[in-house]
Amino acid sequence: MLPILTLPNQRTRIPSGSKRIGSGITFSWGHGFIQIAANLDVSARTRELVQDGVDIVASSVMAHWNKTFEDGFRIACVPYVLPAATPPDPNRTHIFIGDKNSTPYVIRPTPVTPYYSYMSLAPADLNSWLPAHEFGHLLGLGDRYHESFSSAARDTCNFVLNGFCGGQRHTVPQQGWQQNIMANAWGVLERRNVDELLALHATVTTMPGGPLLLGGGT
Ligand SMILES: [Zn+2]
Repeated sequence: MLPILTLPNQRTRIPSGSKRIGSGITFSWGHGFIQIAANLDVSARTRELVQDGVDIVASSVMAHWNKTFEDGFRIACVPYVLPAATPPDPNRTHIFIGDKNSTPYVIRPTPVTPYYSYMSLAPADLNSWLPAHEFGHLLGLGDRYHESFSSAARDTCNFVLNGFCGGQRHTVPQQGWQQNIMANAWGVLERRNVDELLALHATVTTMPGGPLLLGGGT
């Protein structure tokens, strides 16, 4: 048996490019910018709720995901949101607005389903902030808050942070992330979110030397 030593993988930034990161979601980047095109559609029990979903998701994503930072870096996101067709268009990320007890969640692409993504919301999630937070999950960002298990288990109302919804959920932003869109209700997009997106989508993993075989014998 030969012991095998694997050198740590290196993440190398690709200067510019464009790739699909979900159903109908394209992430493009270059020097000083990110551009996201997001084709979304909405279904719900009533036509009114569908229309609210279309309007509010589009305006929430527009408001939070278009920004120029102090260093001049710019992120631009165009959400194209429509009522869902029957049958659903596979080239859009489908947003289903369930009943008042549903908890928001996002399904992201996996190696088996590399482009499939999906979002579930409750009617009360249709506010100016939460769809933009969930959109961050669609792009691959994680939450930046802690929540006790008992709090999560007690979550009988909708996903609302820090005292909303009668304070039934107890969530605490990670240290230093209090104003961030992924941490706190009404938090905003920050430059470090952008760095995380670039690290996720604008890099390749390379093994500098490949696996090294050590030891004697053949
Ligand atoms: Zn979240």
